[in-house]
Amino acid sequence: MTLNIKPYHDKRMNFKLNNIIRANIKQLTAYSSAREDFTENAEVFLDANENPYNNGINRYPDPFQKDLKQQIFEIKKVKPSQLFLGNGSDEVLDIAIRVFCEPKQDNIIICPPTYGMYKVLADINNIETKEVLLNTDFSLNTDAIINSTDKNTKIIILCSPNNPTGNSIPSSEVELLLNKLNCIILVDEAYVDFSDKESAVKLIDKYPNLIVSQTLSKAYGMAGIRVGIALAQKQILDVFNKVKPPYNINVLSQEKALNTLLQEGLYQEKLARIFQQKTLLINALKENKFVEKVYQSDANFLLIRFNNAKKVYNFLAKEGVVVRDRSTQPLCDNCLRITIGTERETKILIEKLYQM
Ligand SMILES: *Cc1c(COP(=O)(O)O)cnc(C)c1O
Repeated sequence: MTLNIKPYHDKRMNFKLNNIIRANIKQLTAYSSAREDFTENAEVFLDANENPYNNGINRYPDPFQKDLKQQIFEIKKVKPSQLFLGNGSDEVLDIAIRVFCEPKQDNIIICPPTYGMYKVLADINNIETKEVLLNTDFSLNTDAIINSTDKNTKIIILCSPNNPTGNSIPSSEVELLLNKLNCIILVDEAYVDFSDKESAVKLIDKYPNLIVSQTLSKAYGMAGIRVGIALAQKQILDVFNKVKPPYNINVLSQEKALNTLLQEGLYQEKLARIFQQKTLLINALKENKFVEKVYQSDANFLLIRFNNAKKVYNFLAKEGVVVRDRSTQPLCDNCLRITIGTERETKILIEKLYQM
């Protein structure tokens, strides 16, 4: 079958998932483990060459993470078939690239300043990354994005709220791109749980070319166990499930994530404390003589323009406070990105900045 892709015209009506999946992936027969077919009443498991003696981790994990997913789709209010879990959302992004982008031929579009892993993942997969800068106010340049697409553009990655700038992309702009373009629009919502802006998840039923990625790493406080989330229509996730490593989320991560999610109250309380510290830090920074601008943020970090970011960064590092220097990123001259910490960490940061 020949590919017929015309992503740069107004053609959503023509979007056919099959036209943009790599040929080898379409033909792929997924690895199947015998455990997938096991019946409810099975009690003797002699199919996977495991050590039979129970120590809590002697069995392979559930490849489709049924129990954990049950909990997550109740929280995210999506259909079970619209939910996929990855080993961190970095794995979700990697799988998306590998499903849609033919090495040495296809390209993705990203909008710097943004998350650094997009380009790294594309580079690893030998995929070209086209960069369309954000506007100076960090809003999306949708016209430039549309004009930069060509027949080999397979994915446009939008980050909302964006790392490192902190602002969100209005869903109307995401929808504009979904309508105008025939490629995948992947919205990385790693920080959405800190934000009161609308998530793109509500668009999933309407758009077969939308993928939303989220994570348990940030607001949910589980960066250490690597659980990322993809939300999309079933046709896309069926392909993801074929491509993912069969046991991509280990037993301990599945159990720990489930138990941590069940303690919902704890999560809300910590979020409230993070918001409190964020306000406190914003106010302190606005009074600081080295600070030129504190950018509006929908996330758990602030992008701050200093009069001399290098000097502030080095001083803080010497004092044992590690922040992120973003000053080499486009549009981020003299900017540091600072994560909102605990009460104690925020207090130390503010004190150090005044000692400088
Ligand atoms: C932290 C971060 C991620 C990575 O999340 P994991 O689920 O921990 O892999 C993805 N996207 C952005 C924008 C991030 O800042």
